[in-house]
Amino acid sequence: MKILKSRTLSLFFTVLASTWLYSGLVFAQQIRAVATWPALADITRQVGKELVNVESLATGVEDAHGVPIRPSFVPRLNRADVLVLIGLDDEQTWLPALLEVASNPKILPGRPGYIDCSLGISVLETPIRVDRAEGDVHPKGNPHYLLDPVRAKIVARNIATGLTRNFPQHQQSFEKNLKAYVAELDNWIGRWEKMAAPLRGVKFVDYHPEWVYLADRFGMKLVGSVELKPGIEPTPNHLVELVQQIKQEKARLLIYGAQNPRLPQQIASESGIKVVRLYSGGGNQPETDTYIKWIDYTVRTLVQSVS
Ligand SMILES: [Zn+2]
Repeated sequence: MKILKSRTLSLFFTVLASTWLYSGLVFAQQIRAVATWPALADITRQVGKELVNVESLATGVEDAHGVPIRPSFVPRLNRADVLVLIGLDDEQTWLPALLEVASNPKILPGRPGYIDCSLGISVLETPIRVDRAEGDVHPKGNPHYLLDPVRAKIVARNIATGLTRNFPQHQQSFEKNLKAYVAELDNWIGRWEKMAAPLRGVKFVDYHPEWVYLADRFGMKLVGSVELKPGIEPTPNHLVELVQQIKQEKARLLIYGAQNPRLPQQIASESGIKVVRLYSGGGNQPETDTYIKWIDYTVRTLVQSVS
């Protein structure tokens, strides 16, 4: 009896040890991906599935161009196999400094682990000349293309290509997952196009110019932005003009996100425009923790706001 007991115990420990070993192996083999924004992290997860472990640096409520740097970002970037980012200088104000201290040559610009999702995206608001003289944070055109679900299919393709470049042994899995995800997106895009019918022709104002891609997709008309230029706070004159413009054009919605509600509320009280808070990074609440859920929540909220 005693012998049996010790045998059972030793068997138990052998099984336990091999389970630990197995999960350790699986973990060790997982690709370590770091994405700048939650929506990108989710698309990476959809393409990489169980082969990747993905973390997002931003949580989704930060200023689109000013993610506060936390000490935990450095070790995450240091260990990463791949870095998935928006590009077009979207992360220019916070990411390059982090990459410098993270000392991980695999994920530096131009290296295989640097997955720039803007490749092949048709960019809106491309400037005639690149000029940062006044602090413009959109020097390469508008980088907020993730809000267009059709362009998100190119993002998913870029991520699959980037993962394959680094881990060619998993190409088949990435391609299979990509195909399934694009089919799922296509399905949702069809639904969103129907759902967004009431948005067609709706005139709106945004705080930071981050809604042009979504507006373009669903037929909304941008009348103006609270910011004087991308990333530059308004002057009193600009606000007076904006209020006049809202009244003249009968703009119905003012969309803001990470910014202080003070100015949107002031503009609303002077013009009668309806204020809607929507974040342009996704992931900040349970309804927005995947890319598809985030776009769905965004479209639904906008439709409710005009009905
Ligand atoms: Zn921006």
